[in-house]
Amino acid sequence: MLRLLTVLCCAAPLVWAADATRPNIVVVFCDDLGYGDLGCFGHPSIATPNLDQMAAEGQKWTEFYVAACVCTPSRAALQTGRYPIRNGMCSSKRRVLFPDSKGGLPASEVTIAEVLKSNGYATHAIGKWHLGHLPQYLPTSHGYDSYFGIPYSNDMDALASAPKGRAKFNDPKPEYFNVPLMRDEKIVERPANQHTITKRFTQEAVRLIRQEKGNPFFIYLAHNLPHVPLFVSENFTDVSHRGLYGDVIEEIDWSVGQILSTLRAEGLEENTLVVFTSDNGPWRVFRQQGGSSGLLRDGKGSTWEGGMREPTIFWWPGKVKPGVVMDMGSTLDLLPTFASISGSKAPADRTMDGYDLSPRLFGSGPSPRTEMYYYHGEECYAVRSGAFKAHFQTKTSYVGQKQAEVHDPPLLYHLGHDPGEEYNVAAHHADVIERLRGLKKRHEESVEAVENQLIRR
Ligand code: MG
Repeated sequence: MLRLLTVLCCAAPLVWAADATRPNIVVVFCDDLGYGDLGCFGHPSIATPNLDQMAAEGQKWTEFYVAACVCTPSRAALQTGRYPIRNGMCSSKRRVLFPDSKGGLPASEVTIAEVLKSNGYATHAIGKWHLGHLPQYLPTSHGYDSYFGIPYSNDMDALASAPKGRAKFNDPKPEYFNVPLMRDEKIVERPANQHTITKRFTQEAVRLIRQEKGNPFFIYLAHNLPHVPLFVSENFTDVSHRGLYGDVIEEIDWSVGQILSTLRAEGLEENTLVVFTSDNGPWRVFRQQGGSSGLLRDGKGSTWEGGMREPTIFWWPGKVKPGVVMDMGSTLDLLPTFASISGSKAPADRTMDGYDLSPRLFGSGPSPRTEMYYYHGEECYAVRSGAFKAHFQTKTSYVGQKQAEVHDPPLLYHLGHDPGEEYNVAAHHADVIERLRGLKKRHEESVEAVENQLIRR
């Protein structure tokens, strides 16, 4: 009735009221950023003043997870709110999509962009996609109005003329990597000049914020960096105490500052949720060119905490209650959360793995997430419930271990007392192990067989 009266009385406030219930949403998603790589997450020699301020004004989540420890499946989970095992987007044989891959995120999946678009949002993807580079899998086929970016990892398509092996990463040049830069479905530059990708992705985001300021909008800005090879623009060359890796992070921090200051300049800050996180942990085999997982164990490619827990910030002045959040959350939760805060419809015809985090964001209750399943390819290696995490299998990231080690009984860690997973307490908690075993079994029974997209060539 109130709504009807508003309609009858005055058209202008109705427009305002409609927009206030459909906030703008910006997701900034990094590639291979470590848990310990930001100033506000404890890094001693990388300066991230913009992210630090964003965290001080918003919520810093210290227990926020991705659903896979490598790029492609992690991104599939973010876009769909479902573990990638449910849509064929993870594989133990071929862990991500490559330029010769024929697969991608199936059309039957419903992305965040599709959920928001059906509620009148403008939707734009910028940066790394990595859910299929063929036209039927690109962002413009998955609910995005536009796309500007590199459709897979920035180290793919290395040319024969590049130095062999890891040498090509030591003093990388854009011409070593024949990666395409795309505008919608067309390649506009190849090889992409990677020195300026962070800057150009930022300019695109700023342009789109200004262009769409009259409508509700969703911008998914997925930086290709700090995945190796590392590149920065001229303004960020040799600025960081941390060397080249720090330069890259400090340019991403600048980018976040540009986005937040544009939102403020356009008067949109109190009607825009901005989320910052990353797709998986640091690529530690690249030593100083890879990041740091801080006090967490291991990194990208492993199901130890350093592979899957990400430095995460939610920002929405006047709405998100500022503070440090030690509840669990996941990129799986973004779709249901965005649907909730915008009054959009999340898919109801399939198993969803995400939760609506808005009670915790707005300070009215705890995070509904109490468990996490840690996937390595198609296998669930570990389960967390509450403070306890059981590892049924472990494999260190990328080097040094060909076969996973099976643990029976599983290794058990209390992540509150021991976030670095150093002290196995399995011997004292047989009851907890049985409970976690039961959770894993029930979760695995909920998974139905689907065609694997990553091994199609
Ligand atoms: Mg990655």
